[in-house]
Order: sequence, then structure tokens, then C-alpha cells
Amino acid sequence: MDMIRVVNGYKRFGKDEVLKNINLEVKKGEVVSIIGPSGSGKSTLLRCISRLEKMDDGIIEIEGVKIDNHSEGGILRRLKGNSNKNSSKVGMVFQNFNLFPHKTVLENIIEAPIIVNKMKRDEAVEIAEELLKKVNLFDKKDFYPSKISGGQKQRAAIARALAMKPDIMLLDEPTSALDPELVGEVLNVIKDLAKENLTMVIVTHEMAFAREVSDRVIFMDRGEIIEDAPPEKIFENPDNQRIRAFLSKVM
Ligand code: ADP
Ligand code: MG
Repeated sequence: MDMIRVVNGYKRFGKDEVLKNINLEVKKGEVVSIIGPSGSGKSTLLRCISRLEKMDDGIIEIEGVKIDNHSEGGILRRLKGNSNKNSSKVGMVFQNFNLFPHKTVLENIIEAPIIVNKMKRDEAVEIAEELLKKVNLFDKKDFYPSKISGGQKQRAAIARALAMKPDIMLLDEPTSALDPELVGEVLNVIKDLAKENLTMVIVTHEMAFAREVSDRVIFMDRGEIIEDAPPEKIFENPDNQRIRAFLSKVM
């Protein structure tokens, strides 16, 4: 079974066609990187998969279950009180961390497990502390986000997403807001997750990282998937001239 399946995905903002004819499958344990120029629809695609945005046409399935693309379905689901049933399977990490500024690192991590999953506080703290050790941030657990570095914030955000035990992690340019010397510590955490067989889709401009960590690389341009292939193919012998042009600018 595919963890993620998108069939003929289409989305527009006003007159702008932002996603066109998107077809994509991600299997369990696969790591897929999405590369491509700014404005090509990479973030929008991730946001549709995580249900922060709705596609206008096409189908998205998460672990074989079609996600509801219609607002009516969303409202019905909410009325039934199970709006989080599927969405907690998908964790998301953003370029700008999106930590709650008025909560400590630890409080950021335990919030969703307690509120959404109704977990007991003690258990949530135990899990959070394990995750903080894993991302090498245990010593900062009582710090507020404003008192830690960008790399530490992003590692906290990754721990926060993992606390919901997602089956799939979506990461949207997780290192783009970081000073160069902080990029490596975040990429190392993501590499460890890849080794643990977590299914991940990562939008990134770190080409060496994408090449090293990915099972497949998807190149997007102007709302379309231009090529979906193993990293060696994309980086050494891409079919499409637009990929060559893009790579020559970023590498
Ligand atoms: P990328 O992540 O590849 O840089 P995005 O998915 O952010 O691209 O954006 C794709 C296109 O959609 C861009 O033209 C962008 O301006 C437009 N866009 C993105 N989000 C919105 C929005 N909320 N409202 C209107 N246009 C948007
Ligand atoms: Mg983007």
C-alpha cells in the first residue's frame, strides 16, 4: 500500500494554476525529496497532502484512505468529532519552525499529545524527553524559543512533530532559514529519521543532502512534476533541459 497517493492533483489560487496534473506515490519507508525553482508549487503540494490547503480537483490518499477535499466533508467530520483521525498520521515541519513563542521547548512538544491525543501529562513529558535526547536538545528543554538558535528551534520543531507519532513526515525547506553553520545539525537529525525508515517528503535546496538521503527525487516546475526518478538519474542524467538549467544554477 502507498503511504501517500496523489492522482491528477490540481489547484489554483484565483487564476493562477499552481498544481497541475500531479501524480505521485510514496511507499512506506521511502524518502522523497522535492526540488525545483521558487514558486513551482512545492509548498502548496505539501500543504495539500497535510490538509492545510485543499486541492480543487484530483484525489489524495493517505495510507489508502481518501482525504476529504470538500469543505462539507470537513465540517461533517468535525461535527462527528473525529477531525484529527487521519491528519495526525502526517507531521509537518516548516521553514520558520512555527514554535509557540510563549511555551518552552518541552511545553511545545507535549501540547498536541495532551490536547489532541488526550495523553496524560506524565506520559507526554516522558515521550518528549526521549525525543529531545534523540534530537540532542535535552539540555534546552526548559528554554523558550527566543533563547535558542535556529538549528535548535528546528530540532525542537522536528521533535514536536514526532511526538504525534506520525507515519509520514513532510518537511518544507527545513534548513532554509538557518545560518549555514547550523544546517548540518538539522540535516543530521533528518538523516537519522531516514535510517529509521520513517516515510518522508522533503522540500529542499540542499542538493548534496537530497542526493544522499533520498530514494527518489521529484523535480517540479510551474506547478507540474517534470521528473520523478532516483537521485543519480536526476543529478547525473536528467531527461529534461529545465532540470539541467536549474541544477546549473544551484550546484
Ligand atoms: P514553492 O514552494 O515551490 O516556492 P509555492 O507552493 O509556495 O511554491 O507557490 C506556488 C505558487 O502559488 C506561487 O505562484 C505562489 O505565489 C502561489 N501561492 C502560494 N500560496 C498562495 C496563497 N495562499 N494565495 C495565493 N497564491 C499563493
Ligand atoms: Mg515553498
